[in-house]
Amino acid sequence: MGLMRSWIETANDPEGAFPLNNLPYGVFSVGDGDLRCGVAIGDRILDVTGLEAAGILRADADADVLDAPFWNDFMELGPAVWARFRDALQALLGEGADETTRDLCITYSVPMADAVMHMPFRVSEFTDFYAGRHHAFNVGSMFRDPANALPPNWLHIPIGYNGRASSVVVSGTDVRRPWGQLKSPDHDLPAFLPSRRFDLELEMGAIVGTASDGPISVDEAFDNIFGYVLLNDWSARDIQAWEYQPLGPFQAKATATTISPWIVTRAALEPFRCDTPEREFELLDHLKDRGPMLYDIDLAVALAPKGKPATTIARTNYREMYYSAAQQLAHHSTAGCPMRVGDLLGSGTISGPTKPERGSLLELSWGGKEPLTLDTGETRSFIEDGDTVTLTGAARGDGFTIGFGSCAGTVLPALDAPYKR
Ligand code: CA
Repeated sequence: MGLMRSWIETANDPEGAFPLNNLPYGVFSVGDGDLRCGVAIGDRILDVTGLEAAGILRADADADVLDAPFWNDFMELGPAVWARFRDALQALLGEGADETTRDLCITYSVPMADAVMHMPFRVSEFTDFYAGRHHAFNVGSMFRDPANALPPNWLHIPIGYNGRASSVVVSGTDVRRPWGQLKSPDHDLPAFLPSRRFDLELEMGAIVGTASDGPISVDEAFDNIFGYVLLNDWSARDIQAWEYQPLGPFQAKATATTISPWIVTRAALEPFRCDTPEREFELLDHLKDRGPMLYDIDLAVALAPKGKPATTIARTNYREMYYSAAQQLAHHSTAGCPMRVGDLLGSGTISGPTKPERGSLLELSWGGKEPLTLDTGETRSFIEDGDTVTLTGAARGDGFTIGFGSCAGTVLPALDAPYKR
């Protein structure tokens, strides 16, 4: 399948992020206006809250589901409605649309440049996994031993931990360097200080669109995923090193997790499905691969010191994951955990096999031992105050691109004193 042509010319750019093939879902506002549900097309945002209120485009015949500053109510309607709505959007915005339809869509749309983006969905709960093999190998090599880098369970289950939905923020939100309890190897006792090893993690986030109660298969899990976003799991490595045993990360991951503003639907990513890598151990039946459920998505990380140009510090691909989001979701449900619409599953840091493909500064600077040199000439082992970190992602088809928009955040200095009393 090639580019699906739209009468909105900017949507027909082969390198553009938002062709008719994509149609990602977000929440936007213009000026002092209300938050509204929108769909990205070329350089415009279609105001679907407005189209629903006018009776032109309805997801549900009886209820207004887009009259809300999030897409959760729409997701609740299920896959048949998701597909119908996408078809209706493609009819409105495709080349075949008549003059009246085109005029209406221009009336009910705004230039993307005029809009501010908000969280596209209400995060019900947030779980983060550790399912990138090269990342797990690199971290295990650094902190344990390259011969035994992967924990014994790693090749059999996608390891995860329960994070905090309350800490998930949309791209563009500033992130404050955290204080925390740190322990230097040179001292016997810990100290309470601003993190000195604040880091990024390049991940994809999968959004659950259909609820479940009890164990679900990998096939069901695949169908229950609504879409994907880019995700930066900000991580304080020095807090993490002291706190993580035996229950895993806690305050190291509690500052913020940034997501890109557009939910790219599973339907839009369908042409880019690919297999997980070769396995040396067969997975148990309930986690076995059930066809290609991973995606071929190019990913990049850029870092810009305050007021200076950005340097691309890593490039990799989502297909490097050892487990698909469907396998992670299936595993998440095995012990009976109910999953809700709006649950967000972080993939785990995505790194490829070579140095420029590493998805965290921890790996890129090898624990601070090999600082990176930026294009500006400055060096970085970890993030410095004022740095802006931007993740980007694109699935590249024949004559078209499925983009995610950017996932950016600027790190502000730690507070002078974190406690008021
Ligand atoms: Ca993570």
